[in-house]
Amino acid sequence: MTLFAITHVAIFTVDPRNRVIPDGTVVVEDDRIVAVGPSAEVAIPEGAKVIDGAGKHALMPGLVDSHSHSSLMRGVTENMPLMEWLPHYQLEHRALTEEDAFHSARLCYLEALKSGTTCVMDMFRFMDRCADAAGEIGLRVNLAPYVADQPGKDFFATRDENKRLIKTRHGSQQGRIQVWMGLEHLFYCSEDAYRDAVRCQQEYGVRIHTHACEQKEEEAAVLAHFGRRSIGMLDHYGLLGENTLLAHCVWLNDDEIKRLADTGTAIAHCPVSNAKLASGVARTPEMLAAGITLGIGTDGPVCNNSLDMFEEMKFASLIQKATRLDATALPADQILRMATIGGAKALGLDKDIGSIEVGKKADLVMLDLAMPNLTPHEVTNDGGNLLWNLVFAARGSNVSRVWVDGRCLIENGRSTQVDEARVLETAQQCGVSLYERCRAMSHLRVDMV
Ligand SMILES: [Zn+2]
Repeated sequence: MTLFAITHVAIFTVDPRNRVIPDGTVVVEDDRIVAVGPSAEVAIPEGAKVIDGAGKHALMPGLVDSHSHSSLMRGVTENMPLMEWLPHYQLEHRALTEEDAFHSARLCYLEALKSGTTCVMDMFRFMDRCADAAGEIGLRVNLAPYVADQPGKDFFATRDENKRLIKTRHGSQQGRIQVWMGLEHLFYCSEDAYRDAVRCQQEYGVRIHTHACEQKEEEAAVLAHFGRRSIGMLDHYGLLGENTLLAHCVWLNDDEIKRLADTGTAIAHCPVSNAKLASGVARTPEMLAAGITLGIGTDGPVCNNSLDMFEEMKFASLIQKATRLDATALPADQILRMATIGGAKALGLDKDIGSIEVGKKADLVMLDLAMPNLTPHEVTNDGGNLLWNLVFAARGSNVSRVWVDGRCLIENGRSTQVDEARVLETAQQCGVSLYERCRAMSHLRVDMV
């Protein structure tokens, strides 16, 4: 049995009351939190290992990256809007091998974990190998294969592969692996693929993840082709509902926001990717006001180029303040909720993760406050300056320890599970080889615009 206590830390619980405990203690037994409260009140069980924060550390729930794509491509498809960028991205998938997929996932999961992300939604290919990578790193991962069944898209994942993955991997690694029905996009998938996904959702009890309404030109093209806008089409296919997560949703109108709220459909908001690909600024304050469940996603290294959710949180707030000329838009507490419990709810995992509460899984992140960017820190019951600095000053490099399911996976900022140097070296070799193969295939690029 694992039994340990983390003492004298500033705890940001993100519980329903948003409780902050300036000098707190958490007790973990096996994979669950069994006590949380002020250090003066929480009894340390006999035999528990004690990790003393000594008033110089903060503890928060693990961050949830609610939309990502593992990849070795980073900084190689730059300076392009979405429609110009997509054909380049497709080349990666034409060239990608199973081994590339494994090394992509292992590298990305390591980067995520080291920067305080404990749960990722990954849409990628050869996802058996992504599950293997998650097993090595220890991360909690949701796998949504890139399914496409339209002509010319045979280099993506198939519906049969998706179903096989559900049968072989869903719920594996003590439940840390969740498999979803993944659908790339309206232009890549047939009506039958969407209807099949809804059937599988019911048959296997899994959830559905797809991209929607990312860019203005894309929305116009969807309307011209289908006679409906994206949300209307997905609604027509029966896809909207509490078990569906849509990535992006940048160009929603008022009616669509209401429809998503009414159906309980969740959204993964990816502000950095939306800015980088010049897609626009999602209407997150309106989405939150309507009651939509909102998580934050990085969208992966290709279109971000960072997997640091601290950076994503800061950007999610600043882009709203800047474009609305409103300094009060999306304050720190709201952003922190989106990146933790919001993401957990969007993934259907909020009963188990997303906050520090008794009974929940011990997916925890400890930050070292004795660093220039977090000094001085003053923590009060409403968070003090540290609440703001968690969102606007902290970075992944402040993360000292990370636990998933009560297992300490990062200690002193380093993985306890893998030889990091070896992971980087193999990813480096694999990545350069993939770049070369992509260049050799550039004649196969099919431009969309
Ligand atoms: Zn995406």
